[in-house]
Amino acid sequence: MPSINAPRGTRDILPGESWKWSYIINTASKVMKDFGFREIHLPVFEHTELFSRGVGETTDIVEKEMYTFNDRAGRSITLRPEATAGVMRAAIENNLCVQGANAKLWSWGPMFRHERPQKGRYRQFYQIDSECLGIAGPGADVEIISLSIELFRRLGLRNLEVVINSVGCEKCRPVYRQKLVEYFTAHESELCETCKGRLSRNPLRILDCKNESCGRVSDDAPDIFDSLCDECRGHFAQVREGLEQLGFTYTINKRLVRGLDYYTKTAYEILSGDLGAQNAVAGGGRYDNLSQAIGGGKIPGVGFACGLDRVALVMEEQGCTFGEAPGISVYCAALDDESRGMIQSLTYELRKAGISAECDTAGKSFKSQMKIAGACKFACIVGADERMNNTVAVKNLSDGTQVSVPVNEAVKYLEGKI
Ligand code: ATP
Ligand code: MG
Repeated sequence: MPSINAPRGTRDILPGESWKWSYIINTASKVMKDFGFREIHLPVFEHTELFSRGVGETTDIVEKEMYTFNDRAGRSITLRPEATAGVMRAAIENNLCVQGANAKLWSWGPMFRHERPQKGRYRQFYQIDSECLGIAGPGADVEIISLSIELFRRLGLRNLEVVINSVGCEKCRPVYRQKLVEYFTAHESELCETCKGRLSRNPLRILDCKNESCGRVSDDAPDIFDSLCDECRGHFAQVREGLEQLGFTYTINKRLVRGLDYYTKTAYEILSGDLGAQNAVAGGGRYDNLSQAIGGGKIPGVGFACGLDRVALVMEEQGCTFGEAPGISVYCAALDDESRGMIQSLTYELRKAGISAECDTAGKSFKSQMKIAGACKFACIVGADERMNNTVAVKNLSDGTQVSVPVNEAVKYLEGKI
């Protein structure tokens, strides 16, 4: 029978890599705590409507990237393609933002998008996500951007660029949209087929198109800053001022629109110079209309999502460290079969004391056991003599010295050494 492989665009994060992921998550967890964000766990599937209404019908995600299916009761279900809509749904459903309360939440886990798999782009990928709900002022935008920068600083990432823009609000964006439609209609023949379709459905996305000809046309497109209302203009100025106050450098890219309809005002991305085409390690922005789009009250929000797969990739490429590599401290080896029982109980006692310990359960020879022990700090050896005297030979594997210790004192002895 042919063997079964993982579906295209998915992959196994094996032990050789998973400990590095744990390091990234643990670092993120600490940064979130330092910034006052609290962790939440959300379902990985939601009602399809949450994303079609929240993310937007005309976005790439909803139009062609979602994993949508009917469950056994005939309800349309979608594997989450992103986290923000789910976080907002949870906040509304659990009344986290009633009467002016705000909620600073973070989460991490798998997201699902049916895209063409390539380096840094998978169909099941992982995001670290943080959202600040209930605050409309620019201070929250600055906090979110500084949080993402701090996360990457602690992970040791270099060669990053922070790019910001404003995409306006429900008052000024329609005006800008209209200007874009007029401009791009006049240049329709120069647009790629996808952008010709976007012209009526989502003209802002044309600005973001990677096609060279679309890029050239977009370069001369109307400037969003000429269309922003006073409120959006003021908000953007204050975000810039806030970032400068914290000492950050950033660039403004007027063509940064992001792929989700719910963004208002601030949009931003953090790009890595070491990733090639898939160069965004994080993206985010403000989404003051999302709550109402999914049936909630007025809850402004700002947040970001960081691509864990890509962060791990860049860290690897830049030679960043991932903390201490996992390893076993003590290997307990049996010289003969009669000693295996004593070895297994000693191993268990060490583990109970929080010392990582390993012993052979596969019937390996003493020589093979000691080969494996070579990767550990200490070996505890038991043979006929030790069994008779109720002792254990503790060998320090870095300097080769060996002492005999009573079995019931072995844990204490090793606790002092590790
Ligand atoms: P891209 O422009 O690369 O498609 P995006 O704008 O679609 O990214 P977001 O929805 O903003 O991405 O998600 C935030 C982050 O999640 C991205 O910056 C990226 O690091 C990561 N990401 C998005 N899609 C994928 C994917 N298919 N595989 C791996 N990581 C991804
Ligand atoms: Mg994308």
